[in-house]
Amino acid sequence: MANDSYKAMWESLNLDISAHDGLLAVLGKFYNDIYLSQQGRLKGMEYLDFVLSEVHGLRIKELQEAKQAGKKIVGTFCVFVPEELTLAAGAIQVGLCAGAEAGTQEAEKLVPRNTCALIKSFIGFKLARICPYMESCDMIIGETTCDGKKKAYENFAEHVPIYVMEVPQQKKASDRDLWKSEILSYKSELEKLTKNKITAKNLKKSIKTVNDKRRALQRLNRLRAAVPTPISGRDVLLVNQISSYDDPERFTKSIDILCDEIEDRIRKEEGIVPAGISRLMLSGCPMAVPNWKLPFVIEGANAVVVGEESCIGTRNTRDLVDESAETMDEMMDAICDRYLKIDCACFTPNTERLENIISMAKELNVDGVIHYALMFCQPYAIEAIKLEKVLKKENIPMLSIETDYSMDDVEQLKTRVEAFVEMVSSTVGNSEAIPK
Ligand code: SF4
Ligand code: SF4
Repeated sequence: MANDSYKAMWESLNLDISAHDGLLAVLGKFYNDIYLSQQGRLKGMEYLDFVLSEVHGLRIKELQEAKQAGKKIVGTFCVFVPEELTLAAGAIQVGLCAGAEAGTQEAEKLVPRNTCALIKSFIGFKLARICPYMESCDMIIGETTCDGKKKAYENFAEHVPIYVMEVPQQKKASDRDLWKSEILSYKSELEKLTKNKITAKNLKKSIKTVNDKRRALQRLNRLRAAVPTPISGRDVLLVNQISSYDDPERFTKSIDILCDEIEDRIRKEEGIVPAGISRLMLSGCPMAVPNWKLPFVIEGANAVVVGEESCIGTRNTRDLVDESAETMDEMMDAICDRYLKIDCACFTPNTERLENIISMAKELNVDGVIHYALMFCQPYAIEAIKLEKVLKKENIPMLSIETDYSMDDVEQLKTRVEAFVEMVSSTVGNSEAIPK
């Protein structure tokens, strides 16, 4: 993945070239082992392979060219930041991945050791100077979701230009008022940054652009539910991951092409795994690039992932912004209401997440749920206990995993996942192997 022709660009972004080369080498190896080794992949995945191979190259070059043309780049860590407003202000929004163990020692100077890997990763990427996205950002948006993030942003603000949105913790009428005022403040902040006025016309267009992206992902999620499974869970996770930093219109077109190919595969009753193999759903914390460890373990254990209940998954795509709104005020209300449907574990109470997981598990006809929480993530780890109880009542088995970004526990994870798959497959009655 390292490409000497981009070296001057990376140097101009003040990256630590040797540490960055090291990161790309690891990413390239992971990608080969986890993605390119799969058999029977769809041709449409070549676009995703290309985007990933150019993740620090061509896409960064595009961002730099956009900056030279006067556009601003806004970085985010959470699906609460409304991309509709960012686009309507003429800026580009990129998800800052935070999915790898890097710069941990440096990060632990800003946050305690027992902080989740996602927080340590975004701090580590900045302090180790290895993320060209972070270095391209004119503004980074934080949010008051979990305590770890909101306190980390205070220390992180000494290193990056950061603006923090206040996300309420409940969903009462007063919380909605607070969230609406936060969305209005974000709009003003964007207008100040870009010196562009957000007009009703631009906002209407950007609502459709972001909805189209979600509609393409919804279509993909519906199609992947087919039996036999037409696409691996790993590949769908990659699609979701790339959705947060690729150009939205180009991405939507590519996913629609991928979906056309999947429809064709379904018509021909072709799949990548035999019918009857264990169908599992992942639920919990977001999995950012290149955090592919758990799906790789699951799909190497005679199972296939058919859904991700996560922010890099259905939590980010399930709900659309109402497109019938016409005036600026109506559109701001529509954005406010759509984002307040997000069922992040940071909310209390959060029964809607439990209901959503059950209905997703039933719709996808899964044999079990694997709940994934990052180590030291209290909101998701605590909610996992409640989730296991409600799933049990529905006769849906659940395996609760807490892990981080290191590979140290891979063997242990394999043992636990294999035992779980064996347990659920005794009800599925299938022993054919999934092609690796
Ligand atoms: S899990 Fe919660 S805090 Fe994390 S990205 Fe999703 S909404 Fe944001
Ligand atoms: S994984 Fe958990 S602890 Fe970490 S940032 Fe997300 S919500 Fe916070």
